[in-house]
Amino acid sequence: MRSRLANVAATALAAVLLAPPAGATAAPPTPAPVSAPERLISAHPSPEEVGRALARVARESDGRVRLGVAGRSNEGRPLRVATVGHGPTRLLFVTQQHGDEPLGTPAAVRALWALGVPNSAWHRWLRGRVTLDVVVQANPDGAVRDQRYNHDPSASGDWTEPGVGYDINRFHNPLTPIADNPVPESRAILRWWHRHHPKIVVDYHMQGRYLQPDGRETTASMLWPTSPLAAPAAVDAGRRVAVRNYDAMTHLARANVSRYPGMSYEGIARNAYGILGSASLLVELSNLPADQVEFQIRSAFVSMIATVQGAADGSLWRIDPERAESIPARGPSLPDDQAEAA
Ligand SMILES: [Zn+2]
Repeated sequence: MRSRLANVAATALAAVLLAPPAGATAAPPTPAPVSAPERLISAHPSPEEVGRALARVARESDGRVRLGVAGRSNEGRPLRVATVGHGPTRLLFVTQQHGDEPLGTPAAVRALWALGVPNSAWHRWLRGRVTLDVVVQANPDGAVRDQRYNHDPSASGDWTEPGVGYDINRFHNPLTPIADNPVPESRAILRWWHRHHPKIVVDYHMQGRYLQPDGRETTASMLWPTSPLAAPAAVDAGRRVAVRNYDAMTHLARANVSRYPGMSYEGIARNAYGILGSASLLVELSNLPADQVEFQIRSAFVSMIATVQGAADGSLWRIDPERAESIPARGPSLPDDQAEAA
């Protein structure tokens, strides 16, 4: 059998990400390298592959990564939740609500491995500060069909593709009684939120291809709650998470990050969980060519680890939220001919 070390590849993060903030009173243990095997899971995993990869992570972590389900998809597939840590600050990450936007899923499996399998003093410290739940591949029925929507041929009305299914990420409206919500995947995530009240919620999606204002290609965009129903304190908390992610993804993942031009509708998870009081963030990875898929998975991995680490040491809450306003607005679409050639 090949040694595990041989499989631990280039997702290592610079130790600077993990350095304790200046002026911290109770310094955490010396940061350990953060990495995960690239071959844990493919870039476009089936629900079965997600299940196998998570089972491996749970096994190799000696149970420090725990597996559960948040509910069932409309076709009855498990909505898998993986949890690592037992600390008081609770976080929730959600991947692949849109079934054809997969790359947050392999990033999450790697992040769970990186946080749960190694057992250094720093890892133990981190897991004592935070509890991270990840809804891994929130739309398995859409994933098997490589489609945005869930699978519900009876779907009709706003935010549906009639005869196909619902757009799960328009059905998190916290003003709608959960029992009246027609989308089982959205209901499951809402119920999870109400059970655990996560302080931070990050939702991982994918977008098309765009240019930065400076002409480089955008590799990721992000946005915090923009609903007028979200309290200013929650919006500020989301903007702090945005700045943390912008800094980490820009400097450690070499990502080109812009501000996503999102709507204010309260049914969007980014807005809904901000309205409910979480620090909420949307991360959109650009759909780059195949040779940059690994780069994109690493970007999301860096985002996840940076968010967890900033929550664990509290540095996240000392960020000036106004800095989010300097994240550049997303530029125009990459022209089709350039996208073809790129
Ligand atoms: Zn999406």
